[in-house]
Amino acid sequence: MEHILTTCVYCGCGCGVYLQIENDRVTGSLPSRNHPVSRNNLCVKGWQLHDFIHHPDRLTEPLLRKNGKLTPVSWDEALDFTARELTRIRDTSGGKGIGVLSSAKCTNEENFLLQKFTRAVLKTNNIDHCARL
Ligand code: SF4
Repeated sequence: MEHILTTCVYCGCGCGVYLQIENDRVTGSLPSRNHPVSRNNLCVKGWQLHDFIHHPDRLTEPLLRKNGKLTPVSWDEALDFTARELTRIRDTSGGKGIGVLSSAKCTNEENFLLQKFTRAVLKTNNIDHCARL
């Protein structure tokens, strides 16, 4: 069994967590005793940090709905579709037709960029963050 020190990705606190590895699979999450932020503590989300890594429902590729069915596509196709549709909606309905939800799994810098993109490019203040849900 191996333990790898990393940072919890579930919120911006940045708690230190050891991922437990067995037979090339992540099987557990444990607090870091000496971590300056978490000091041997994790919240309930941190204790479950490992759960999504090998979960069968985890999204591992972009999906687009085609003929009513979610279909795996390349990142290029997914990003082209997203850019085209966001532009179309913004140009026909204005910013009020768009809402953006950001994630605590993103870094502060990524969240800053997303709110800038939302306000400056998508022309809307309709942006929120999962930490408020
Ligand atoms: S363990 Fe809980 S408080 Fe700490 S970073 Fe993860 S989600 Fe946030």
